[in-house]
Amino acid sequence: MAGEDEGQTIGIDLGTTYSCVGVWQDDRVEIITNDQGSRTTPSIVAFSDTERLIGEAAKNQEAMNPVNTVFVMIAITIIFISRTDAKRLIGRRFTDALVQSDMKLWPFKVISGPADKPLIVVNYKGEEKQLAAEEISSMVLFKMREIAEAFLGSTVKNAVVTVPAYFNDSQRQATKDAGAIAGLNVMRIINEPTAAAIAYGLNKKAATVGGKNVLIFDLGGGTFDVSVLSIKEGRFEVKATAGDTHLGGQDFDNRMVDHFVQEFKRKHKKDIIGDPRSLRRLRTASERVKRTLSSSVQANLGIDCLFEGIDFYTTITRARFEELNMDLFMNCLEPVESCLRDAKLDKSSVHDVVLIGGSTRIPKVQKILQDFFHGKELCKSINQDEAVAYGAAVQAAILDGKVYKVTLLDVTPLSLGVDIDDGEMSFVIPRNTPVPAKMKKGFTTRFDNQTVVRFPVYQGERARARDNNFLGEFTLCGVPPAPRRVPKLSVCFDIDLNGILNVSAEEESTGKKNGVTITNVEGRLSTEEIEKMIGEAEKYKAEDEEHKKRVDAKVALENYAYKIRNTVNDQKTNYMIPEADKKKVQNAVVQAIYWLDRNQLAEADEFNYKRKELESTCNPIISMMN
Ligand code: ADP
Ligand code: MG
Repeated sequence: MAGEDEGQTIGIDLGTTYSCVGVWQDDRVEIITNDQGSRTTPSIVAFSDTERLIGEAAKNQEAMNPVNTVFVMIAITIIFISRTDAKRLIGRRFTDALVQSDMKLWPFKVISGPADKPLIVVNYKGEEKQLAAEEISSMVLFKMREIAEAFLGSTVKNAVVTVPAYFNDSQRQATKDAGAIAGLNVMRIINEPTAAAIAYGLNKKAATVGGKNVLIFDLGGGTFDVSVLSIKEGRFEVKATAGDTHLGGQDFDNRMVDHFVQEFKRKHKKDIIGDPRSLRRLRTASERVKRTLSSSVQANLGIDCLFEGIDFYTTITRARFEELNMDLFMNCLEPVESCLRDAKLDKSSVHDVVLIGGSTRIPKVQKILQDFFHGKELCKSINQDEAVAYGAAVQAAILDGKVYKVTLLDVTPLSLGVDIDDGEMSFVIPRNTPVPAKMKKGFTTRFDNQTVVRFPVYQGERARARDNNFLGEFTLCGVPPAPRRVPKLSVCFDIDLNGILNVSAEEESTGKKNGVTITNVEGRLSTEEIEKMIGEAEKYKAEDEEHKKRVDAKVALENYAYKIRNTVNDQKTNYMIPEADKKKVQNAVVQAIYWLDRNQLAEADEFNYKRKELESTCNPIISMMN
């Protein structure tokens, strides 16, 4: 439990597209609005010549500065690809794996850093910066923390952060690391659909009396999750979970962008692929069109000077949009089926199907799901955008000891195992095992007198180990020499409440655990790297503050100059000022504005100095009017 001086624990939905933060107050969850008055904040970070921007401000400038605007969705995809697909393409470089995917449409550069860890390259204040995916996520977490601190009026140190249920161990680790870089102690990682189920259960108490089976269908911007829970009053038990960490609104946008690129090519004989700015503008407009098509059967797209001065005006129907994405929509059913299978439930025993995530607003997605459930009414009454943060805030309140009547029982989304000697995956913990879980499995040696045994650990469902996600490996040393297959080695897999794995092994005759070392945890940031990034984050924060001071000082000078000019020009009152003084003020103002126009990038001190100078000239004269 977080102590009193630790402040309140907040709940953060770190979404791939939008993030949301909530806190427990006066016996209920308060979803906190950001500085723009919105309850969700775009998960976007941008860099410019003068500043770093996070959230709304980053989104607003993306069309102008696409090469330095980074989406959390992409950061998360990079973590995913680098740790699975890149591994799968053995012997090929990470950058080759990137070229294979839709990342070639991304406007910014991704390079392969030390240990083949992918780094995102941006330009900040005229300098090239290489950022790890975790750092991008940490900046959004930092922003959400700031939003909460502004609301609470106190420092926030602890948070519950949600992740898609289908996130693997590496992605969960990365989320924890991102929290640490943002100066947050991630007290617990919970699964998004489970969090949404809490929102459902607490808001629809009557619906859960006597115990109900609920299917949560969460289709967001970049990820897709399905969970089946049984809810009985305050007890939330996840039966099974399934999903796809690379399916969501972004893919529907891609299809539409492709469609329009082809249309532009047909109409104007020009290809806009390769022009990041045009592509970015087309993507933004396509996303807007997609939203319109959720409520209208036809939508217009209009972009002035899209490419080489050519305007692009066109329309698209909902039917066409559906046709472009039909296979992706249909793909959503497979995880629903497998989740029900794993939960050992027939679809007729699901009492309620709950829609979460922005992309479930698409009518066709709803129709396909409804047909699958034999025409059952879907539950749309839970706030699609806030339910996850709501659940996270409840979990935070449980950890703070403010809520007692809620019990959460979650499962691990993917199986875990080791590669025994022949490349076969030997499963230790099957998927959908309730967490926390601790399971042991016996292994032995392959050779006579083998004293060192290596255990590569994988996560996934495929029979061949290398088709799964490689997590890292550990080595057991000091096995007493014996003929092959005689030593008894016991490997213990331990999954904590966050779904994060710890492994250990022991040789049974000696009972010794020592000599077990986990090495090469794939792609994971080292403690030193995290420390370094925390330092960087503090530097960014200081620079953000410095930038804000500068802008405030500039605005103060500008405001003062214009106010004075209006005062001396106001004919109703300016007869009180002698002509010569009026001239003096007007000249001083003209000079100040002239200086401002040429020194937009001056330091805060310089703006303040100029303002004081102007004040000392003008205030004595203006005060004559009162
Ligand atoms: P995440 O949790 O991954 O951040 P969200 O649940 O916030 O994602 O959903 C964002 C996605 O929902 C975006 O791809 C957005 O385009 C899509 N979306 C939002 N509103 C609509 C709508 N009315 N129709 C279709 N898609 C929508
Ligand atoms: Mg979400």
